[in-house]
Amino acid sequence: MRTIGVIGLGNMGRGMALSLRRRGFAVIGYDPAPAARAASAADGVAVAEGPRALWQACEAVVLSLPTPDVVEAVLLGSDGPLHGAKSGPDGKADLLVIDTSTSHPDVTRRIAAALEPAGIALVDAPVSGGPKGAHAATLTMVIGGSDAAVARAEPVLAAMSATRVHVGGVGAGHVTKLANNLLCAAHLITAAEAVRMARDAGVDPERLLAGINAGSGRSGVTQVNFPTWVLNGAFDSGFTMTLMRKDVRLAEALIGALDLDLPLSAEVGRLWRDSAATAPDDADFNAIVKLQLA
Ligand code: NAD
Repeated sequence: MRTIGVIGLGNMGRGMALSLRRRGFAVIGYDPAPAARAASAADGVAVAEGPRALWQACEAVVLSLPTPDVVEAVLLGSDGPLHGAKSGPDGKADLLVIDTSTSHPDVTRRIAAALEPAGIALVDAPVSGGPKGAHAATLTMVIGGSDAAVARAEPVLAAMSATRVHVGGVGAGHVTKLANNLLCAAHLITAAEAVRMARDAGVDPERLLAGINAGSGRSGVTQVNFPTWVLNGAFDSGFTMTLMRKDVRLAEALIGALDLDLPLSAEVGRLWRDSAATAPDDADFNAIVKLQLA
């Protein structure tokens, strides 16, 4: 595979495009936002005026889009690959789509079923590691797709990530990513409550975290988020409140669709929903700790 498209050149997609180029792929990007297009063009990435050029020119197209609705519009809309992908020797489209967005597994499976008869394979490969990981190609991916599609995607995935876990068929990556982010969303709140308790009981937060990180209460939040973005006041992870609220909402939607009663998850959902009143959409997602640590 030589030519790869990237649709969505935001905080994550811009870095992914650069990582793919570093690995020797020709990359064509597209984003409707002029600022995103200009930033990628300044990076030296070829930027198209619309997505149709990508379906025609690329063997694989990577998506990094904000919500499931946008993913569905891009893939099943009138400018989508069903109306523009180039054909292989059997007359069917010869295209692989890799969705790195955090999306809803039911939407992913519905899209995959609509693309499959036309010969377009879909792999969901949502990521952790933030914009820095996207630029450095050190992302972690949880991957859903058939063995054949994931094997075909491997060179492209490997150019963007350091760790890849194939968790099941199409949609399984998005189930896993929602479970991961539900835990991260919960851990931010519980860690803030624990730090608040200990601080008010006279223990310095940095020493508290050193103790917790040597013990069984540790998590990615206590090991990474608090030292990197919270205790130093930086709040500059590159992942926004609006995106984490979206992820928690998607996890709640999945729990609802499965008809499950998960009380702690419901409370986490309520706290993140209510945070819209105090933390703006473009604030860093770690700002949820300010419920306790303002
Ligand atoms: P972002 O808002 O910075 O970028 C999304 C880009 O998609 C924007 O540039 C936007 O203009 C573009 N876009 C919107 N509609 C489009 C369309 N119809 N066609 C093409 N492009 C369109 O978001 P991000 O932080 O880069 O996140 C992208 C995805 O990755 C999200 O699903 C997010 O949840 C996930 N994610 C983000 C992070 C992070 O740290 N930022 C980490 C893991 C996963």
